[in-house]
Amino acid sequence: MHELGLVYQVVKTVDEVVKENGLTEVDEIVLQVGEMSDVVPKFLEEAWAAAAPTTDYPLAKMTVEVMPALAKCLSCGYEGHVKTFAPDCPHCHSSNLKITSGRQFDIKEIVAK
Ligand SMILES: [Zn+2]
Repeated sequence: MHELGLVYQVVKTVDEVVKENGLTEVDEIVLQVGEMSDVVPKFLEEAWAAAAPTTDYPLAKMTVEVMPALAKCLSCGYEGHVKTFAPDCPHCHSSNLKITSGRQFDIKEIVAK
């Protein structure tokens, strides 16, 4: 389950932010995960539940926002939602797509004091 590895990466980043800003308590960590990334939000939340007690933020909540798979078709100009697996343009079926959203794995927000 590579979600656990991701959780520890997130914790590392949170550690840095906490240190830089002199924070003491983290209430919530908000992540943005693309539909097309190979991360399962449910596994991520479970991994956090397992990992949290071993971190400095045992009471922090992890919220995962799923970002839609969006693309622009370079053949016909379609812009919008595409399939998450083997995406093609729903309009002209070209696979000449520029993915604009859906592959991200970002920390959107750290709610802390
Ligand atoms: Zn198209």
